[in-house]
Amino acid sequence: MGARILSAVPDHYDTLGVPRDADAQTIKSAYRKLALRYHPDRNNGDNEAEERFKAINAAYAVLSDPEKRARYDRYGDADAQAVFTGDIFDVFASVFGGGMARGRGQRQRGMAGEDLEVELEVTLEEARDGATLQVEVERFTACDHCHGQRSEPGGGGRRRCDTCGGAGQVRAQAQSFFGTVLTTQTCPSCRGQGEVIVTPCSVCRGAGRVPESATADVPLPKGIDGGYRLRIPREGNAGVDGGPTGDLYVYVQMAPHAHLVRDGDDLRSELRIGFAQAALGSCFEVPTLDGPELIEIAAGTHSGTEVRLPGKGMPRLRQVGHGDLLVTVVVETPRRLSKRARALLEEYAEEMGEPIEARETLAERIKGFLTGRKRRPGEEEAEDRHDAA
Ligand SMILES: [Zn+2]
Ligand SMILES: [Zn+2]
Repeated sequence: MGARILSAVPDHYDTLGVPRDADAQTIKSAYRKLALRYHPDRNNGDNEAEERFKAINAAYAVLSDPEKRARYDRYGDADAQAVFTGDIFDVFASVFGGGMARGRGQRQRGMAGEDLEVELEVTLEEARDGATLQVEVERFTACDHCHGQRSEPGGGGRRRCDTCGGAGQVRAQAQSFFGTVLTTQTCPSCRGQGEVIVTPCSVCRGAGRVPESATADVPLPKGIDGGYRLRIPREGNAGVDGGPTGDLYVYVQMAPHAHLVRDGDDLRSELRIGFAQAALGSCFEVPTLDGPELIEIAAGTHSGTEVRLPGKGMPRLRQVGHGDLLVTVVVETPRRLSKRARALLEEYAEEMGEPIEARETLAERIKGFLTGRKRRPGEEEAEDRHDAA
């Protein structure tokens, strides 16, 4: 099973700037206003505006569909059905018509930067707080020397490719079973670009980008759990020749905690107590994410009893409220006894009618019981203290 995808962008209601109980008309007019403002054609292909535009359209696609909206309200982005995966320009066209639908963003030239992936270990406290963490990323960034243009500054720039005359494609004759056929191939000299660099950049050797070690901010949504994948826009590899920068995908793993184990939105812990404490009842300090807390264990508590501390679990992802903390009581039986403790326990056993017998004594008794059973009815029973009835 693949990782659940969770975008690190703000939630859909925040994106459109509408309250959670907004009606369909409010959502639509908020969308119209924002979609026009951030459309790529009005922002000269600015990357940030484009990201906003994508988020606005994704938000509208989910919130304008009553079924998707209901699922989103309930499960957030964690629910695959509530995640928008379609074409953002289709969403735009459904509201504005087709005229302005295809933006400049669709005609990006150059090569897009690759998306990158990193793993990130998150503590319970960081997941609870929705902390912003930093991750180290080894990636390609635009070359400073040529500003990603790939040619040496002052080195003659680019000229039209001689091989293809700028078309990016060449015709070739090939002999086949059917005779001579004409085929079109990507130009081998310019790799389809139609132009060649006169002097490649001396720093990046014409690649347009160089490796770097960088740190990227990862804002965690409150309540994030292991197995989620967060998308951090434009923290991947730089594109080449004006191509867009890739995204960074962060795979979240939960770091183990000294006392608490996560179980969805709930947390679990164990409280080990002595059996006298279990029998008599007592107060105990238990660890929670907010520090130690006192709980009362009632007299006569069995091992395995669960004590629930409501609201002491993790915040529910993209929802209100918290899970609970479940403390499982484990009654421990003492292994080493002092002389006095042993004497007290023997006295206790006698008081409670719990016979304490050595193996030999018990074996002897069972043997007597079995031979007693073999006797014929009417025969007098031997000294058999065990009552077979
Ligand atoms: Zn360069
Ligand atoms: Zn060419």
